[in-house]
Amino acid sequence: MPASVTAHIVSYLELMPGVLATPATLEAMLKHIKNDRLVMTGGGTRTAPEHGVVMQIKNYNTQKLCLPVEVRGPYIEEGEEDIWASDYLTSEEYPLTQDGLLRAIVESKETIADIRKRGLCPTCEADEPPRKRLKGPGMPKCCGCSLGDMMGV
Ligand SMILES: [Zn+2]
Repeated sequence: MPASVTAHIVSYLELMPGVLATPATLEAMLKHIKNDRLVMTGGGTRTAPEHGVVMQIKNYNTQKLCLPVEVRGPYIEEGEEDIWASDYLTSEEYPLTQDGLLRAIVESKETIADIRKRGLCPTCEADEPPRKRLKGPGMPKCCGCSLGDMMGV
């Protein structure tokens, strides 16, 4: 197989540069999450908020363990202290297995990359008070503003 093809395939199996998604790395991460039961990563600071991800063990005392994962945007709503009080952008539930964790990591990473690429709705940001809404996929404004534009209102 050509080296460029191999490098491309390997890039999909990297959790981060230089760390491959192997059974050993995934098991170590699962153990960490199981021990802590609640993992909050990212979030930035009050003056420089960043995206954040919350993972937690659900149904810890039963046989049906699962891994709910929420992705939060870098927005602090009025009256809140940090991004963790804001609404989630996505909320998914994964099996508490190596495959489930890998899906959770890959999908959260894709969500954050997509949101960074899309950016915020300029019309909502110009409102008073400003609102932070994401542009719709492939749209110049958020879904609400785009819907109005589509209907000519
Ligand atoms: Zn808008």
